[in-house]
Amino acid sequence: CGIVGYTGFQDAYSVVINGLRRLEYRGYDSAGIVLDGDSSFKLAKTKGKVDDLVAVSENLKGTATIGMGHTRWATHGVPSDRNSHPHLSNNGKIALVHNGIIENYDTIKTMLTEKGFVFHSETDTEVLVNLIQYFMDVDAAIDFPTAVRYALNEVYGAYAITVMHDDFPGVLVVGRLGSPLAIGLGDKEYFIASDASPFVEFTKDAIYLEEGHMAIISLENGVDIRSITDNVKVVPAIQELKL
Ligand code: GLU
Repeated sequence: CGIVGYTGFQDAYSVVINGLRRLEYRGYDSAGIVLDGDSSFKLAKTKGKVDDLVAVSENLKGTATIGMGHTRWATHGVPSDRNSHPHLSNNGKIALVHNGIIENYDTIKTMLTEKGFVFHSETDTEVLVNLIQYFMDVDAAIDFPTAVRYALNEVYGAYAITVMHDDFPGVLVVGRLGSPLAIGLGDKEYFIASDASPFVEFTKDAIYLEEGHMAIISLENGVDIRSITDNVKVVPAIQELKL
């Protein structure tokens, strides 16, 4: 299973698809991609291999410079198109990919269902993207990265996530606890991946996100790393890859 994200000037589709191929060795049963185009998200996902994903998504090539992809190793819900990631929030504005397990998804799912949320998959992951929407819905003062942080503080389990919001173009929010995530620092471009192999051809400068940390990544403001529990700013250690 794996995650790849990109924001910059290259074709995000190609960077993400090639990156997912580099992570295939980790094992998976489904694959998906979302790009932030001119108006709304462009999403494709399928049970099967990255080749199967390409077969249903090649029309997305060259349409965006920001996006993210996922290879899934099903833990909650059978391998299927519907259970594949990315998952979207009910309002269609938030997209999320996740590796790991949300242990308390059932409790959160019950709470959100009572609030009127509808679920389209059997995954533990889908509760997280809707919980982020929920926090933004209840208080207009809560912005996208803050809502991600609040949501992560409600979940138990293991995760590496990458999240995009349609109203926050150019922003990728990532977080990790128990599953790995690396950020590649390029010149006017940033990469996200489960390990450095998807971006080593583009940059040798990497940040390995630490346990319990999240990062808000944008071309405008760079990489802003925070602790998930208390939002304390973290100065990252930039490592030089020797690959
Ligand atoms: N638990 C999630 C699911 O079953 C993520 C699995 C993964 O790590 O790929 O969809």
